[in-house]
Formats: sequence, C-alpha cells, structure tokens
Amino acid sequence: MTLLSLEDATVSYGRDAPAALANASLEVNAGENLAIVGESGAGKSTILSLLLGLRAPTTGRVRYGDRPLARRDRTMMRAFRRDVQCVFQDPYASLDPRRRVAAIVGEPIRSLGIARGAARAERVGAALERVGLPADAAARFPHEFSGGQRQRIAIARAIVCEPRVLLADEPVSALDVTTRVRVVDLLAELVASSDMTLVMVSHDIGVVAELCERTIVLERGSIVERGATSDVLGAPRHPYTRKLMSAVPRLP
Ligand code: ADP
Repeated sequence: MTLLSLEDATVSYGRDAPAALANASLEVNAGENLAIVGESGAGKSTILSLLLGLRAPTTGRVRYGDRPLARRDRTMMRAFRRDVQCVFQDPYASLDPRRRVAAIVGEPIRSLGIARGAARAERVGAALERVGLPADAAARFPHEFSGGQRQRIAIARAIVCEPRVLLADEPVSALDVTTRVRVVDLLAELVASSDMTLVMVSHDIGVVAELCERTIVLERGSIVERGATSDVLGAPRHPYTRKLMSAVPRLP
C-alpha cells in the first residue's frame, strides 16, 4: 500500500535558480523503510518539506494515499498530521526550552484533539517508556537531558499519535558516535514493533543501511539511483553513489 508519493515533483526556489528538485517521483510504501541519501544541497530537505506538506511542488504532485495532498482541506490535513510525523536533526532546536516534556510530547495529541487530561498523560507516559526515558521525565525540561535523550523526547513526540509514516531528517547526525548507535537501535526497534514506516534522510549511507530496505540517491536535485539498499550499496551503479560511499564515515 502506498502511503505517500511524489509524482514528477519539481521545486524551484527562485526564477533563475536551478531546480532544487527536478522531476522526482517516489513512493513510500507501508512496511518498506526508505532512505534518501545525498550530499548537502542535494535536495533532501526539499523532498521532506514536500512529504510533510510544508511546501507545495512548483510542478508535479504530492499524494497522500491515493489522493492528491490538498493543503487547504482541513479534514484531510488533520488525518495527514496524525499519519505523518517528523523527527528533525537538531534536538536542541526542535524542543521548546520553556515547556516541560509532558507538554512537548503531548502537543500532537492536544492539537489534534485526540485525548485530554489523564488520558493524554497516560499516552505521553507510554511514549516516553517506548523511547526508553523514565516516567519522571514528563515533569522535567529539555535542558535537563543529554543530546541523545533530547532526541528520544523528539521521537516520543513524533510517535505519540502512532503515525503511519515517520520522517527522520538526519536524526542522528547532531549526536556523538556512541549515542548515534543507540538512537539508530531505538528507531530500528520502534519500526520493527509497530506498523510505522520510516523515511530517513541522511548524508551517511552507513546509518541508513541498517534501517532501510530501499534507498534513493539524490544528486543536485535529481534521483540518480534507486533500489534495494543491499543492491545500491553492494553494487552501486552510479559514480556519485560510489563517491558518497567512500566519503562517509561508517558506524563503528
Ligand atoms: P539538502 O537537504 O540535501 O542539503 P536542500 O533541499 O536543503 O538540500 O537544498 C537543495 C537546494 O535548494 C540547494 O541548492 C539549496 O541551496 C536550495 N535551497 C534550499 N532551500 C532554499 C530556500 N528556502 N530558498 C532558496 N534556495 C533554497
């Protein structure tokens, strides 16, 4: 089942600028974790902003299930916000320092009107437990946690509504190496133990190899290679993919 897709999507940020994304088509299928890899400036964040409904393509289409994503359709967007959640790169920037973890993690539940009061607190507690944080984390503030724990808070917020798609934008690149391994393991476990499908954007091919069955390689706004991750990494056809593989440090 296709959960999200891009059809021939092009994004231009300016009249004279080269397209940040050119005629890209891809499908996010249920149960098939997808990696999008490429160097800085390749267009990875641009793809994510389309898949998150934050931006409309200049030409082409974004589909949510079998329907075009209509950002003005409030009923559709409410279902979409519940189904599609995101974890960003920098857990320092993505968590409001003035709010307690309970409010941060409970925010999607509140804004989508899914539960309140004790029911909301219970769901927040369950999400914190799933990401390996203690129950008393709910009453604390982001600055009381390490970088890895903050990323766990961000992951708890993303999964609290049990989305069908989890988009992860370089979710471990701001973390030190040992913490990276733990957060990658957590993502792997969350995906394996739920119906959630992961779309992970990374410049680090080593990280995505563990988590994603399929890989798309992006170079300067164009998809240059795609396929099963084992094929793409095992026998890269495109010189750019080979270059990426030799350039990045691997997980130890
Ligand atoms: P990546 O996430 O792979 O680093 P991006 O999607 O951020 O790549 O960027 C793709 C291209 O689009 C780059 O050339 C970048 O400079 C340009 N770009 C990205 N966002 C904007 C923006 N808001 N305005 C103008 N150009 C942008």
